Amino acid sequence: MGEMAGERSRLRQHMDRDVAERAGEFLELGAVAHVGFCVDGQPYVIPMSYQYSQAHPEKLYLHGGRPSRLLRTLCEGGLVCVTVTMVDGLVYSKSAMYHSMNYRSVVAFGRGREVIDSRQKAALLDAMIARYHSGRSVGVDYEAATVAQLESTLVVEIAIEEMSAKARFGGPAGPKDADETAQGSCGVVQWPDGLHGPR
Ligand SMILES: Cc1cc2nc3c(=O)[nH]c(=O)nc-3n(C[C@H](O)[C@H](O)[C@H](O)COP(=O)(O)OP(=O)(O)OC[C@H]3O[C@@H](n4cnc5c(N)ncnc54)[C@H](O)[C@@H]3O)c2cc1C
Repeated sequence: MGEMAGERSRLRQHMDRDVAERAGEFLELGAVAHVGFCVDGQPYVIPMSYQYSQAHPEKLYLHGGRPSRLLRTLCEGGLVCVTVTMVDGLVYSKSAMYHSMNYRSVVAFGRGREVIDSRQKAALLDAMIARYHSGRSVGVDYEAATVAQLESTLVVEIAIEEMSAKARFGGPAGPKDADETAQGSCGVVQWPDGLHGPR
């Protein structure tokens, strides 16, 4: 994924948290994409579920109803910025400035287009269900979407042009956190496991 870095995705702070090579892994684990786009100069950021597989690392998919402004804008080839974040822990320190979060996150830039082919749409939606609900399969655990349902659903492919990934792991890093005699308390409140997979 390193080759997908560009000027838009160049980190400017905390270079120690640069994990660009893990961007695809994080996208495959994430649950919610915050999708940013502009219409007439007005920025919008909308939360969405999504489909992503490292087998096709430069493609991310969204779906929804035809009236959606977000999806209609992307169908017209609109530029988009997608952010996926996994919060792993709340870090508290003996110093105000060193309170932090453990996280894994990706910011991806790209451009949308509508997926027209109904077989591809159905396959993408089934893959998306299996990503969120591991092991569920069409025809066994649920019935396939009908032609009419597929027709009323917009599926958008985002061609990822560049992306970055950052992560923070570990405990508090304040100047007094390793000093047991210093006043105050420090540690990490782990975020519940289960949704995002191993850290
Ligand atoms: C975790 C999560 C996953 C979702 N997954 C999907 C998905 O896969 N597909 C899908 O179509 N929708 C999904 N949604 C709903 C999505 O966020 C939009 O609400 C939805 O796309 C409807 O958009 P719209 O056409 O009404 O609004 P748009 O035309 O996109 O927006 C119109 C206005 O409605 C308001 N608005 C829209 N969405 C929200 C929101 N979520 N919260 C608060 N205000 C909002 C904003 O002011 C926005 O400017 C998801 C929401 C959440 C929270």
